[in-house]
Amino acid sequence: MKQKIQRFMTGRYGADQLGQLLMGISVVFLFISLFTRLDIFYILALGLMGYEYYRMMSRQIERRYQENQKFMNGRYHLAVKWNKKKEHLKQSKIYHFYKCPSCRQKVRVPKGKGKICITCPKCKTEFIKKS
Ligand SMILES: [Zn+2]
Repeated sequence: MKQKIQRFMTGRYGADQLGQLLMGISVVFLFISLFTRLDIFYILALGLMGYEYYRMMSRQIERRYQENQKFMNGRYHLAVKWNKKKEHLKQSKIYHFYKCPSCRQKVRVPKGKGKICITCPKCKTEFIKKS
């Protein structure tokens, strides 16, 4: 039996990270449909699962590989964005962020210093803000 499956799977694409995510989402949708009894989630779950099985069985390995690569790139950019946001949130406790009125450059100033004159590091424009 195992050999049969192995022979069946040779030359086919198989599972990847995008596939794992698709499977994960479809399981979540299945659970939602169980608890809410909304058919739409059940249909979506089946659709996603079907699509992932189609990807796993696919012989167009290069194409599936490209799909996964796109997905991995997107995931990476999302993680970078998320980390930036987290860092910004952490810093916003002790810093104020202002945008330079003439060149839109972000400027970081410490909080609680009263009215201060900020000089833009990029275009040297001066503007007054409360910190
Ligand atoms: Zn500026």
